[in-house]
Amino acid sequence: MLEQSETIPDFPKPGIVFRDLTPAFADPETFRAVIDDLSAAFAGTFDAVAGVEARGFLLASALAYSTSTHLVAVRKAGKLPGEVLSEEYALEYGTATLQLKPSSLRAGARVLIVDDVLATGGSCRATARLIERAGGTVAGIGLVLELTGLGGRQALSHYPLHVLVSEP
Ligand code: AMP
Repeated sequence: MLEQSETIPDFPKPGIVFRDLTPAFADPETFRAVIDDLSAAFAGTFDAVAGVEARGFLLASALAYSTSTHLVAVRKAGKLPGEVLSEEYALEYGTATLQLKPSSLRAGARVLIVDDVLATGGSCRATARLIERAGGTVAGIGLVLELTGLGGRQALSHYPLHVLVSEP
């Protein structure tokens, strides 16, 4: 399914093998298959879709549109105006922060989190915490590619998880 994706060694820093799925998403049939798969995997369980900046936005937008559900943007620190919730999480080196506007979520919303790649699971876990702090529940987490061996699946073990492709 991801034949058109690319693998870039040492990007964005030495030692990281970057998996770029955007060439696969650029293919209309592949992108439709990805969105349809995520939609079917969580059918009827969610009424909002949260995308993690930035490639998660591509998936969340199409999924929210195709399922007539609410679109929620989870952004990197400093991008959202007004009242925001913040979650800091560990990266391989240092930390990062994700933010959510609590007003972007309806009380009791059942939120599906989507992103392109699962590595350590830190960003999806921080997103799940933001959703719960904002009064929503996490319906599930949908990812296109799981990089196994980095602990991501274990970090997200509290939530229903669906991945389209796993690779070492
Ligand atoms: P993590 O929070 O460690 O699960 O990392 C997942 C986030 O970082 C996702 O938004 C991915 O797009 C990005 N990411 C992490 N590692 C990679 C990688 N090797 N190739 C592509 N994207 C990655």
